[in-house]
Amino acid sequence: MTAVLRLERVTRVHGSGATEVTALHEVGFAAYAGELVAVMGPSGSGKSTLLTLAGGLDTPTSGVVRVEGTDLAALGQKGRAAMRRTSVGYVFQDFNLIPALTAVENVALPRELDGAGSRSARKDALAALEEVGIADLARRFPDEMSGGQQQRIAIARAIVGERRLILADEPTGALDSETGEDILRLIRSRCDAGAAGVLVTHEARHAAWADRVVFLRDGVVVDESGADGADVLLERSR
Ligand code: ADP
Ligand code: MG
Repeated sequence: MTAVLRLERVTRVHGSGATEVTALHEVGFAAYAGELVAVMGPSGSGKSTLLTLAGGLDTPTSGVVRVEGTDLAALGQKGRAAMRRTSVGYVFQDFNLIPALTAVENVALPRELDGAGSRSARKDALAALEEVGIADLARRFPDEMSGGQQQRIAIARAIVGERRLILADEPTGALDSETGEDILRLIRSRCDAGAAGVLVTHEARHAAWADRVVFLRDGVVVDESGADGADVLLERSR
């Protein structure tokens, strides 16, 4: 089985000389279709770096990042941008919606950028909004919605057009706990439908939605477990 996402001995060094920081050190990681993997670890352990590399938003200092078997470095900048639009959905902690666009326009944008006609992009966007349960808010602007509704739009944007890899960096950080659970349920159901998901979180009850937990410390994978072992890891991290 081909991993949707695979990192092979990935190292990312920021800066140089006295200010040099190794954000990730020879990390191996994979996420398969249908699976949600939680990434946990203390602040500064490299979780966001792993996600930006996985999404082709950053490139490794050494090592290889593959999405559906393709080495992202071999794609070049343009190819990575195209891959991001078609295969990768990215959900940020602070939603990152475009305030001047309505909900449906925000969700349609990646499809339009990818050359879909505007009617077809809108149709796909409405289907994604339907899937996250807020099709009735399609014409509202982000500032006319609650935080939970805005994050649903961000998730709709991440899943529109059948993206195979969903990357979420503390997607519930700005939400109350009940809304946060709803958001995780949506990501989980997308993985159950066949996407691979990577969820960065520092909350044990959020990691409980995942099939596996990968634990980072100082840029190194220090442990990895099935859901049953997660409790042990979480205890150890405290
Ligand atoms: P986490 O998401 O787990 O909190 P990050 O991946 O954001 O961790 O950061 C890992 C380490 O890399 C930290 O020490 C951080 O300060 C450093 N780092 C991250 N991004 C940059 C950057 N653009 N320039 C310099 N250092 C960075
Ligand atoms: Mg982070």
